[in-house]
Amino acid sequence: MKTFSSTLQRRTKGFNDIHDMTEEVRNALAESQFRNGIITVFIPGSTAGITTIEFESGAISDLTNAIERLAPKDMHYQHDARWGDGNGFSHVRAAVIGPSLSVPFNNGTMQLGTWQQIILIDFDNRPRTREVIVQIIGE
Ligand code: ZN
Repeated sequence: MKTFSSTLQRRTKGFNDIHDMTEEVRNALAESQFRNGIITVFIPGSTAGITTIEFESGAISDLTNAIERLAPKDMHYQHDARWGDGNGFSHVRAAVIGPSLSVPFNNGTMQLGTWQQIILIDFDNRPRTREVIVQIIGE
């Protein structure tokens, strides 16, 4: 077993900005030249998340609406009272979605479903430049 690490960069707009990262993760896997193992995709930061979805406009819109119901933007958040940065909703959303994802791969191919893409969601209330860490353990 060896490890391979790659850092991806994305400019994001915040407010549930969703990006398909599948191709870049696939490229990192190809670069590693590993055939079998596991990939971890992780985003440092407490106002963004990593998960999977069928990346089409209907599902994206449904997810965005569900997140809006889960932690509405226009509610009172204790975090905002303490820090005044106005992104209490962003922290709650990020905590629920989670910051990382593990994907197994065999014969050099990630074992994702056909309609399952890896997405980064930026929940913050301002544009950011995000780094996504792709750490691969394999051989
Ligand atoms: Zn904050």
